[in-house]
Amino acid sequence: MVRTGIGYDVHPFAEGRPLVLGGVTIPHTHGLKGHSDADVLCHAIADAVLGALGEPDIGHWFPPSDPSIEGICSLRILEKCAQIAAEKGMRIENIDASLIAEAPRVKPHAAAMKQHISAALGIQPDQVGVKATTNERLGFVGRGEGIAAMAVACLSKI
Ligand SMILES: [Zn+2]
Repeated sequence: MVRTGIGYDVHPFAEGRPLVLGGVTIPHTHGLKGHSDADVLCHAIADAVLGALGEPDIGHWFPPSDPSIEGICSLRILEKCAQIAAEKGMRIENIDASLIAEAPRVKPHAAAMKQHISAALGIQPDQVGVKATTNERLGFVGRGEGIAAMAVACLSKI
């Protein structure tokens, strides 16, 4: 049995915050606003995994109203998703994800992101795709107001 899931997330830029994408802190003029570390890439991947499992989304497991998870590293969220998958007898076969941002450049950090994401999910780096594109200066991403991410996950029965 093979199951797929899709995830999408957006966070606005905010001043005075570190920019964390795929568990990697990237030097940039702005970070992303959010209750956690606002790692938009990890959040899209988490929702893809949860979706494939037929589980409620990330907001159910990590409600923004919960003060105990303020500033949480989103790799911990991925670890929780992998745990839920294992408890349901499912194995993560692969993840593919795209970041949509005008800046910063993601490519130099993609290998490190794959390393962090795969370690959190308990899989190998070559089971994780991390890609990036701009929005051709169109819309809120194009105006540099934030970063969007989308992801798919493929899981199989152990
Ligand atoms: Zn998010």
